[in-house]
Amino acid sequence: MKNKKELRTWLDKFNLNHPLTIAGPCSAETEEQVLKIAHSLKNTKATVFRAGIWKPRTRPGNFEGVGALGLKWLQKAKQETGMLISTEVANANHVELALKHDIDILWVGARSTVSPFIVQEIAEALRGTDKPVLIKNPVNPDLALWLGAVERFYSCDVKNLGVIHRGFSTYEKTNYRNNPEWQIAIELQNKFPDLPLILDPSHIAGRRDIIFDLCQTALDLNYDGFMVETHHDPDNAWSDAAQQVTPSRLIEIIKDLKIRKITDHADEYKSNLKNLRTKINLVDNQLLDILGNRMNIAEEIGVLKKENNVAVLQSKRWNEILGKMILQGEKKGLSEEFVLRVFKAIHQESINHQESIFKE
Ligand code: PEP
Ligand code: MN
Repeated sequence: MKNKKELRTWLDKFNLNHPLTIAGPCSAETEEQVLKIAHSLKNTKATVFRAGIWKPRTRPGNFEGVGALGLKWLQKAKQETGMLISTEVANANHVELALKHDIDILWVGARSTVSPFIVQEIAEALRGTDKPVLIKNPVNPDLALWLGAVERFYSCDVKNLGVIHRGFSTYEKTNYRNNPEWQIAIELQNKFPDLPLILDPSHIAGRRDIIFDLCQTALDLNYDGFMVETHHDPDNAWSDAAQQVTPSRLIEIIKDLKIRKITDHADEYKSNLKNLRTKINLVDNQLLDILGNRMNIAEEIGVLKKENNVAVLQSKRWNEILGKMILQGEKKGLSEEFVLRVFKAIHQESINHQESIFKE
């Protein structure tokens, strides 16, 4: 695999450091708030300031952003701190206003990426631009929608594109506000290896205590940077209060992160190995989650069998499953012996779980 950092991207062209760190509040609230946060980020590794002006809230009745007025506050933050400024655009009118106010980096939000009409409208409003544009993943775990958005922007000759991984919504209860589903971002990275990939740990986490760990995983997976929601008084933020960190916490996070250096040839082996091992660890965690889910279902079956006084072991069904799994496994390059061993172990564990239900 080509080492991504050897590829020249617009990050170098715009002199943006590695990892690119975009920080600032979820929403611009007041001029004072914007300037206060920007000043505490001045001269740190966070070189790009973010603030949402138009806020796409899932339900009405929440703070929906200050609107175009906030663009002036961002401009002032840029003048006073020298940081680049960025905001979300969700239609052609937003684009026009953002360009008029010299916003440096635009991003497309997760609720926009789900809609090809909106993506097309924004891409056309930006046709031919040199401005960096970052496309967040769609709310739902659908790689094709994300890829489609990238393709629409490329078709409109938007040259300096990047993507932001902000996690995917799920109906299941998890530790995250939005499930990371790292493999989707990795797949996108494999399809477009020279597209800068930025992590938004804030919207994945939904809480501030795991921002550091998420950022470290991203660095281990060769991401190009982060967008971290940062507020001087997170608990009283007008949106996304639980996930924002203070500027001083962000500085600490950046200091503690193990930043992977740009690989030279001597380091390439180690760097690739580490990358692959991180991917294996993620897959192993998924395997455990899946096995756990399978045992939960087996227990539900145990309850059903007990209520109906049916025996735990159903040999006919089990032999059918095994036959199917051996055939499917073969297609994935897995030997019959391996599939048999794995599924026998899984089956035994399911029986143990069901037995314990029968004994209750
Ligand atoms: C945001 O960045 O504040 C935001 C609304 O994010 P997302 O589009 O990822 O939900
Ligand atoms: Mn937010």
